Amino acid sequence: MKIDLHIHTNNSNDGIHDLKTMIKQAKKVGLKAIAITDHNKLLSFKKAKDLTKQYNILVIPGIEIGKIRFLNHLLALNIHKVPTYNNIIDILDFIINNGGVSIAPHPFSKIGFHNYSYYQFNAVEAINGINWLCNRRYKSQSKIPEIANSDAHAAYMLGYTWTEIESAETVEQVLENIRKGLCKPRGTFVPNHLTLKLFLTLSKRYIIKKFNIFNKKGCGYENTSYSNYLGIWTRI
Ligand SMILES: [Zn+2]
Ligand SMILES: [Zn+2]
Repeated sequence: MKIDLHIHTNNSNDGIHDLKTMIKQAKKVGLKAIAITDHNKLLSFKKAKDLTKQYNILVIPGIEIGKIRFLNHLLALNIHKVPTYNNIIDILDFIINNGGVSIAPHPFSKIGFHNYSYYQFNAVEAINGINWLCNRRYKSQSKIPEIANSDAHAAYMLGYTWTEIESAETVEQVLENIRKGLCKPRGTFVPNHLTLKLFLTLSKRYIIKKFNIFNKKGCGYENTSYSNYLGIWTRI
């Protein structure tokens, strides 16, 4: 069965499509289970359950933790609240102790955990759909289970990168298969023209926001600060 455990919606600052559109496209490309992992925003268990029922595809609650461009990212699946510790060891402990799964995404990018085996992540992205440089640098370090995720920030980026897993009927089943390494990375990275399409859309959005700032005082951005070194967004 095909699953994809790293998907962004427009709840991420750099995501394009809403939950509904992403889920519908995931079904269309044959995925049986997906994890929604927006930047520093956790999808609740209730919402994930409702979506699973509504769209008949297993939706796993998740989050990608870490300041978008500057600090190391990590994926946490199936946790009830966002860990707010200041160091990676405590955060990984929190995930394990709360029945979750931790994944090192794009480990050889600037914002990845190169030493994912030292930290004992539950799994590592051997293929990341939008980070081809990282894919080229990737080398197995240990017996950490390997998966492949799209890291899709738009619906058209889904379906090129996935993990093959034997069964994906329940969230627990998926997580247990990942922990045990009963999974295989599959596919390749998202075609360059689609990544470029995303980049151009985001650039346009950025320019429009900037333009609004100059013309309407107080409009456009919310004030934010970072609560710890991982850069979790908190509104002030
Ligand atoms: Zn990331
Ligand atoms: Zn991501």
